[in-house]
Amino acid sequence: MEQLKLNNGQTIPQLGLGVFKVQDADDLKRSVAAALKEGYRHFDTAAIYHNEAWLGEALAESDVKREDLYITSKVWNSNRTYDETIAAFHESLKKLQTDYLDLYLIHWPSDGYNEKWRAMEDLYNDGLIKSIGVSNFEKPHLEKLLTTAKVKPAVDQIETHPYFQQKELNKYLRSLDIAHEAWGPLGQGKSNVLDDPTLVKIAEAHNKSVAQVILRWHLQREIIVIPKSVHAERIAQNINVFDFTLTDEEMSLIAAIDKNQRGSGDPNDEEFLKNSMSRD
Ligand code: NAD
Repeated sequence: MEQLKLNNGQTIPQLGLGVFKVQDADDLKRSVAAALKEGYRHFDTAAIYHNEAWLGEALAESDVKREDLYITSKVWNSNRTYDETIAAFHESLKKLQTDYLDLYLIHWPSDGYNEKWRAMEDLYNDGLIKSIGVSNFEKPHLEKLLTTAKVKPAVDQIETHPYFQQKELNKYLRSLDIAHEAWGPLGQGKSNVLDDPTLVKIAEAHNKSVAQVILRWHLQREIIVIPKSVHAERIAQNINVFDFTLTDEEMSLIAAIDKNQRGSGDPNDEEFLKNSMSRD
């Protein structure tokens, strides 16, 4: 599996399995087992997905050693303070049946993220997290975070797919040496990106599926991808993207189909951020 080097010297497998919306324990365990068999070692969850415990069980049941796994989780917006962030982290560790995380992210730039970051830095300095990062942070959020941060985020996990390519933010992240990680890399099954005629044509030329072409495009942009599927055949397909290369011309053709069209979750939606901070 291709690894990317992060700004703190740690490495991350460039492709992993996302488990958002997997709400059934058996589905989750089956898909993690299928993924491990296909060579996935990187798994992306979050406290708000309410499936960390199942992921923990699935990984504990496998014979893959902990040091060969890469586990990401995220602190939810309702955990607002330094102490709440520390407590939420330990809760995630317990559920995931591990004593450290490879990557821990602030899920959204909801109010108070500078203080939450201080807690993340302490957990990082204590060796409980190998790398710390953010998610759904745009330029102004990062600028504000960096006014107090002592440790620079290693990763920013943001919505990215061919209809929402995040070209500007990608450039900004590159300038800061913060790795760009794509959520919703396949458009979340919401847009019709999988039927896009340009992508269909490129897929036919390589004898690959459109999903594989999209994942390959992300990889060649040096973006980390965590496609989600609970189907063994798609899980296998989504990691089978290291045996072909898109040409510069194909990369340019894909760059041109950008619609700058967000699929969900706007980090500038103050109402959403405020509501998501509720402790109920
Ligand atoms: P995704 O783009 O990975 O799309 C998943 C959907 O694509 C599946 O449900 C399936 O319908 C389809 N699919 C998957 N493989 C396919 C294939 N080979 N062929 C055809 N269709 C296929 O969307 P996602 O799950 O929302 O994003 C991936 C991961 O990113 C999540 O599971 C989660 O871990 C993370 N995520 C993070 C945030 C955040 O705010 N940080 C938000 C959303 C998702």
